[in-house]
Amino acid sequence: MSDASRPLPATVTVRLPDAEGNPGPPEAVPAVQKSDAEWRAELDPDAYRVLRAAATERPFCGRLLDQKSPGLYVCAGCGLPLFTSRHKFESGTGWPSFFAPFAPENVAEDRDESHGMVRTEIHCARCGGHLGHVFDDGPRPTGLRYCLNSVSLEFRPFSGSRT
Ligand code: FE
Repeated sequence: MSDASRPLPATVTVRLPDAEGNPGPPEAVPAVQKSDAEWRAELDPDAYRVLRAAATERPFCGRLLDQKSPGLYVCAGCGLPLFTSRHKFESGTGWPSFFAPFAPENVAEDRDESHGMVRTEIHCARCGGHLGHVFDDGPRPTGLRYCLNSVSLEFRPFSGSRT
């Protein structure tokens, strides 16, 4: 479907985490581009359906919904840091929710007119994997609500006791 075939430039500008888990400076890195067959072979079926075919998982069953430990949420397709525990909040929607991305460069947006709605789709800037949507009914300070599918993310705890 549309997301699986999203064309990516050869290089993309993203921010990688520094030793404190904060976004480092913008840097150009190669985009991660794989064939549909390669993604199918690499991802488990649930992650493939979300990341490469833009499916949405059922609410209140994702494995990261109740994750409250300090850490980074990285792309399940390519490992790029996308969100952090510092911006996670309880939205009540049943999906993991954040009020900001790890870095704006890392989470790209597209207009999504599927299912009779106009929404803003979010995807990984490095591999194009579908993540979820962003809405403008979030909490302060951004007023944004990034609504995520758990299977599109992997949780990486910060090392040590740093919060
Ligand atoms: Fe990715």
